[in-house]
Formats: sequence, C-alpha cells, structure tokens
Amino acid sequence: AKGAGKGTWTLFESGMGEEASERLTLRAELHRALENDELVLHFQPIVDLKTEAVTGFEALVRWQHPTRGLLAPDMFIGLAESTGIIHRLGAWVIREATGALRRFQDASGDHELAMNVNVSPLQLENAWIVDVVRSALEVAAVGPRCLSLEVTEGVFLSDTAMVAERLQALNALGVRIALDDFGTGFSALGYLERLPLEGLKIDRAFVSGVAADNRGQVLGAIAGLANGLGLSTVAEGIETEAQLAAVRALGCDRGQGYLFSRPLPEAAAAAHLATSRSS
Ligand code: C2E
Ligand code: CA
Ligand code: CA
Ligand code: CA
Repeated sequence: AKGAGKGTWTLFESGMGEEASERLTLRAELHRALENDELVLHFQPIVDLKTEAVTGFEALVRWQHPTRGLLAPDMFIGLAESTGIIHRLGAWVIREATGALRRFQDASGDHELAMNVNVSPLQLENAWIVDVVRSALEVAAVGPRCLSLEVTEGVFLSDTAMVAERLQALNALGVRIALDDFGTGFSALGYLERLPLEGLKIDRAFVSGVAADNRGQVLGAIAGLANGLGLSTVAEGIETEAQLAAVRALGCDRGQGYLFSRPLPEAAAAAHLATSRSS
C-alpha cells in the first residue's frame, strides 16, 4: 500500500508539471514575504530629455527571496494578482515608494522630484487604495503632485465606470495618473479624454526601433496625440544615443532607460541623483 501511495503521489506531481508546483510553492512563500520584509524597491531615474536632468524615479518591486535570489516582478506580480495579495503588496509599494521619495527630496533639496508607482488594475477595484495613497502622502509629508500612479490599458478590461470613479478619487487627492505601456494593450482612445490622465508612457516596443530606417512613425504619432491632448510623454526603454536623439526629435518630454540608468537600490539611486545634480 505504501508503494502504491508513493506511486500515486509521483504521478500526481509529474502530471501537475514542474511549473505549476513551482507556482504553488512561490504562492505560499509570497504570503510570508510581505511579513518577513523580503520585498525591496529599486528606483529607475526618469530624465528630462532636453536637459537630461533627473526629474524623478519609477519604483520597481523585487523579491529578495531567501534561497532563489532577487526575483523580478514578472515572477510574482501575476501570482499576487491571482491570489489577491496584490492589494497588500501594492499598499506596501505605495508607502515604501512615498517614504523613499521624501528621502530623495530631502537629500537633493528638490521638493519637486517625482515618484512613479505601478498600480495593478485589480488594486483599483478596491476603494482602500484611496485611503492608502492619502495616508502615505500624509505620513511622508510629500506634495501629492510629486506622486504619479502608472496604470496600464488593462484597466479598460475592468468595469470602466468604476475605474473612472476610482481614478477621479485619486486625482482629487492631487496625485497624477499616467497610462503605462501605451499602445501595447487595446487602446481605447476615447478614454484618454474621459480619465483624469496627466501623461502617457510610451512602451519600449515603439522606442527600440525608432532609430532604424523610418520606424519612428508610431512613436511620433503617439507623441503628437499626447501633445494635442495636453498629456506629458515619457519614452521608455531608451538604450542607445541614437534612440535618445530620435525620441527627442519626435517631441517626447522625458525618457527612461538603461542609457541613463538601470533600476537601482535606494542608496545607489540617491548617489546617482547627487552626481547628476552636481555635474
Ligand atoms: P514596466 O512598468 O513597464 O516597467 C519598466 C520595465 O522595463 C522594468 O522591468 C525596467 O527594469 C525595464 N526597463 C527599463 N529600462 C529598460 C531598458 O532600457 N531596456 C530594457 N530592456 N528594459 C528596461 P521590471 O523592473 O522587471 O518590471 C517589469 C514589470 O513589472 C513592470 O513593467 C511593471 O508592469 C511590473 N511591476 C514592477 N513593479 C511593480 C509594482 O510595484 N506593482 C505592480 N503592480 N507592477 C509592478
Ligand atoms: Ca511602469
Ligand atoms: Ca511601462
Ligand atoms: Ca512593460
């Protein structure tokens, strides 16, 4: 009987697939990760394309896993969403990023410095996020205009009236809302006018080909659209000088990418900021 039991278990395990059992393990561990302070934020500079001065950072979450090393968000954000942990995880990110912003502002003396925080569409389904943002701003004592929430086109898959209402409530706190990965989802252009958006982040997919032969039309068109709607633009994933020159020529306001800096731990980001300010 023992042998049969063991055989059954093996069969079940292999049938489930390595990936699925890996997800189950990670899922249990993610619950503990929040309690054990295993999540960390890295910060990637966003620069003014005219001056190349750092105008702010995007906060990007990582999981410092006790045995697997530093895990990228693609490894666990989907899991956090499907298990509902995203609400607590997202609240942690908002508080932590706002606290770091306060430290960056104090260290640089620039109280206009901005922080961009990614918000999952699911987080907008929960009214709690409005209280989380309000209290994070109060605790850190930073101006609401310095905080920018990045939402993806995935929000259009939720109840749009509810999403619009939630974004209005967040906007009423004074925070900015940007549409992330613009152009990669299903672009419901009508919502650009109906949601309280401040800016568009143009996905790396449109930036990577921009320096090649006549591949900048889409990016140029998006920049023109944004300009017409009074929205600011950030070009994502700038890796080369040629791409920088091209997105500049096409009229993007700000840029982000490995050419300027990879996402950095807080101390390194603070050092990067200090260097960029003194030069
Ligand atoms: P995203 O919001 O589009 O963030 C930009 C991603 O592009 C980051 O990957 C960043 O490291 C990477 N990147 C920046 N510059 C370059 C470049 O020049 N070249 C290339 N190849 N990549 C570049 P990362 O940190 O792995 O994050 C992946 C995604 O995970 C993010 O994409 C975002 O959708 C999600 N994410 C990250 N942090 C959070 C968070 O706190 N909450 C939520 N809900 N999602 C998050
Ligand atoms: Ca983002
Ligand atoms: Ca993006
Ligand atoms: Ca992306």
